[in-house]
Amino acid sequence: MKKYEQLFFDLDHTLWDFDANSKLALKQTFDELALNDQIKDFEAFFSYYQGVNHQLWEAYRNKEIRKPDLIKKRFEDTLSHFNVEGIDPVEMNEQYLELMPLQTKLFPGVVETLHYLKERRYQMHIITNGFTEVQHRKISTSGLDVFFDRVFTSEAVQIPKPDKRIFLHALKCCNSKKKTSIMIGDSWETDILGAKGAGISQVYVSENMNISDVPLVDMGVGDDLFTISADRAHLKTYCVKKVENLTKLF
Ligand SMILES: [Mg+2]
Repeated sequence: MKKYEQLFFDLDHTLWDFDANSKLALKQTFDELALNDQIKDFEAFFSYYQGVNHQLWEAYRNKEIRKPDLIKKRFEDTLSHFNVEGIDPVEMNEQYLELMPLQTKLFPGVVETLHYLKERRYQMHIITNGFTEVQHRKISTSGLDVFFDRVFTSEAVQIPKPDKRIFLHALKCCNSKKKTSIMIGDSWETDILGAKGAGISQVYVSENMNISDVPLVDMGVGDDLFTISADRAHLKTYCVKKVENLTKLF
């Protein structure tokens, strides 16, 4: 599909395996604090932490608690559940967040797919919501930097996805046209609807394909890749289950 020239990728949960990397960072924090002296099983610790963290994020989204409470309580509650004393939960959180962007796990087939796209002379960029320093560190430590010309973070642009202005800003900086650009990401709200609002075609990367409310207009090659809508001739929404299936599209 050579009508596209510029590919804009999301980072977290699309290329960089956020869940696996946060678990690795937490394991490293656990080891550095020698918590295995007091908690025998990291998996039990991780599983309890996940439950607490999930509940606190829910409360945060419902505006029942503030961010500093979330940051403190997620480790405070987990440590007290395991009767651990003498660890500062805020410092533990800082240690964990410092280790996060140093993790390098990408989704299967990401490197091979990016090599394939690079060889086919697509220009590739990243548009990501997050802190500039953190996102750049993730990109360089995981070896993604060789594939991408430009990285746009919501912190640097001062506008987060799904606001259409971050997409339009990125296109302008790359001298790219809407018709020849496409956004690739895992979030229906931020990546897909955001890019669509900016008039840019999109590829939704989703294992679950929870998109039943979107009309199917053009079934493609196999059940793992299809066009889910085409509002106008140049504005399309494609869907793939895995990043590696992008090689069928481009
Ligand atoms: Mg994402």
